[in-house]
Amino acid sequence: MDSDPVMFALFCEAIGKDSLDTAACIMTSMFTATNVSRHGTAEQRERYLEPFLRGEAKFSISISEPQSGSDAAGASSTARLDGDEWVINGNKVWCSGAHLPDTCIAMMLRTGEGRYDFSVLLVPNDTPGLEIQKMDTLVRRSLGTNSLFMYDVRLPKSALLGEINKGWQYIGEHLDFERLSIASSQVGNAQTALDDTARYLSERTAFGKKLAEFQVLKHRMAEDRARLSAAYYLVYAAASAMARGEKASALVAQAKLISSQTLFDIAFNGMQALGGYAQLPEYDMERYFREAKHGMIARGTNEILRSIIAKSMGL
Ligand SMILES: Cc1cc2nc3c(=O)[nH]c(=O)nc-3n(C[C@H](O)[C@H](O)[C@H](O)COP(=O)(O)OP(=O)(O)OC[C@H]3O[C@@H](n4cnc5c(N)ncnc54)[C@H](O)[C@@H]3O)c2cc1C
Repeated sequence: MDSDPVMFALFCEAIGKDSLDTAACIMTSMFTATNVSRHGTAEQRERYLEPFLRGEAKFSISISEPQSGSDAAGASSTARLDGDEWVINGNKVWCSGAHLPDTCIAMMLRTGEGRYDFSVLLVPNDTPGLEIQKMDTLVRRSLGTNSLFMYDVRLPKSALLGEINKGWQYIGEHLDFERLSIASSQVGNAQTALDDTARYLSERTAFGKKLAEFQVLKHRMAEDRARLSAAYYLVYAAASAMARGEKASALVAQAKLISSQTLFDIAFNGMQALGGYAQLPEYDMERYFREAKHGMIARGTNEILRSIIAKSMGL
C-alpha cells in the first residue's frame, strides 16, 4: 500500500488498542510479505502475495533457535543444495503462527561458513519432514507460537527468497519497521489500559467515596498519563524521521524501549488499582499485563535496544 511509516504506526496503534496479540497476527505476516514483494521472483509474488492480499494466506518468520535468540547470527539450522533441491535440517523455536492453515514460513537458514552467511527459504508449513509443535506460553495465546523440527526437509530450488547468503540483510531491512510496529501498538494498548483503570476508579466505591477521589490514586494516574504522552510523541517522532527517509534505528529503539516500559508500568498500576478483579480475564487488565512483559523481549530485548542506543552515542 502506498502509505508512509506514520500511517503504518497509526494503523498498528489502532489495532494495539484492543489487543497486542491481534496486532501481532497482522504485523507478523506483513514483514515477510514486504520481503517477498521486494526480493521475491515473479512466481513467488504470484504464489504468495496475491492470496495474502485476499486474506487467504499467511506468513510466519523463523529466526530464533533454542541456543540463539538475541544473538541471532548464532543460528545453526542449515539448508544445503542437493542437485535441484534444498535439504533443510535443524531446530527453530518461537515461530509465531507457523501452525495455522495456509501459512508459509520465511526461515532464516545457514547456507555458508561465514558468521552472517544466511539465506531465507520460503517453507510451506505442510512440507514433509517439517514437524511443528505448539508451545504453551504466557502471551501470544491467539496467534500461538511453535517449535519447528526439520528432518531432511526437501524443497525445490525456487524456494530461495532473493539471492543466496543475503538472508541476514533481508531480515535486517525490516527491523526498524517491526520495532516501530511494536512500539506503536504498545502505546495504543497502554491508552486502553489507562482508560480502563480510570473508568474503574471512577465507578468503584470504598470508604464512602469513589476510588478516584483518593489523591494517591489520582496522582498515580496523572503520572501514567504524562509518561504515556511522552512515549506517544517519541513513537511518532521516530515514525516521522523514517517517513522523511532519515536513518532512524536509534530513535526507533528508544521508542520501543520507552513504550514497552510505559505499557508495563501502566498495566502494573492497573493491576493494583483494580484490586482482586484485575486477576479475572473478563477485566482484560491481566492480559495487558502479560502481553506488556513480552514487549520487553520481542524483536530486540530492552537490553539489546539499550546497546543500539548506546552505540548511536558513540559508546
Ligand atoms: C511469545 C514469543 C513469540 C516469539 N515469536 C518469534 C517469531 O515469530 N520468530 C522468531 O524468530 N522469534 C520469535 N521470538 C523469539 C524472540 O525474538 C526472542 O525470545 C528474543 O530475541 C530473545 O531471545 P532469547 O529468548 O533467546 O533470549 P536471550 O537472547 O538468551 O537473552 C536472555 C537475556 O539475556 C539478555 N542479553 C542477551 N544478550 C545480551 C547483551 N549482549 N547484553 C545485555 N544483555 C543481553 C537479554 O536481553 C535477555 O534479558 C518469540 C519469542 C516469544 C517469547
